[in-house]
Amino acid sequence: MTDGRWIEVGDRVLVRRYEELDLSLGLVVGEEGCLVIDTGGDQTQGAEWAALVREVTPLPRQVLLTHSHFDHSFGTRPFLPCPVWAHRRCRADLAATGVEQRDKWARHYRESGQTDIGDRIAEVELVLPDRLVDDTADLDLGGRVVTLHHFGPAHSDHDLVALVRDADLVFAGDLVEQGAPPSFGGAWPARWPSVLDGILGLGTTTVLPGHGEPVDRDFVLAQRNELAVVAELCRAVAAGELAEDEAVRRSPYPAEFTRSALSRPAGIDAVG
Ligand SMILES: [Zn+2]
Repeated sequence: MTDGRWIEVGDRVLVRRYEELDLSLGLVVGEEGCLVIDTGGDQTQGAEWAALVREVTPLPRQVLLTHSHFDHSFGTRPFLPCPVWAHRRCRADLAATGVEQRDKWARHYRESGQTDIGDRIAEVELVLPDRLVDDTADLDLGGRVVTLHHFGPAHSDHDLVALVRDADLVFAGDLVEQGAPPSFGGAWPARWPSVLDGILGLGTTTVLPGHGEPVDRDFVLAQRNELAVVAELCRAVAAGELAEDEAVRRSPYPAEFTRSALSRPAGIDAVG
């Protein structure tokens, strides 16, 4: 039943890769505890993931949700009881949209013929994070610290990244995507480039996307520059300087992604 494969990305830092959605879940192990980064899209996947973590370490665990989207947050229940970290607005968003997300994605998978996944999503009992972060927090795992940062709205209005300084890497959630374009549903395109500047400013050699394989700084810089093009296209369309079809033509991303970005607020002041 368990699918996926491990990648060892640093000393006692592991990534579990899944075929479904090309998802990447993370694990950081200290001397006194471990941090699980995202929990998967349903409780079956979450329970498998929790069992895999147990095979690696018996130490007490904490969970970090990088953001509220179902594929990152719906597998949390099997990890309880444990602290669940997230941005303050992640909790608010899960409380506001969790049922809607569950219905939407259960229907999506059932209608696309993957009824097993749809049924699993429909059964999810939502879990709200109980350790809330506004800007930054240090999690001491014993002998190593993981630092959480929020650099502003981008993929969502509450993305958190997890810096593991001693392993020279950062978990970026869906702020960075490898193998597919960035996803703009609920995104803030105008702010996204500067948030990637924040990640690059951490200075790590390796960046771990929420979907896809580990990447380097050059990859993140290239994605930052593509996102800056999209941000400018969004601004120009909103200002009436450019037709939407022309923006789609000029975009570095496929039409459906660009149209999704164009449907979002184009200004930089829309959210705090
Ligand atoms: Zn996402």
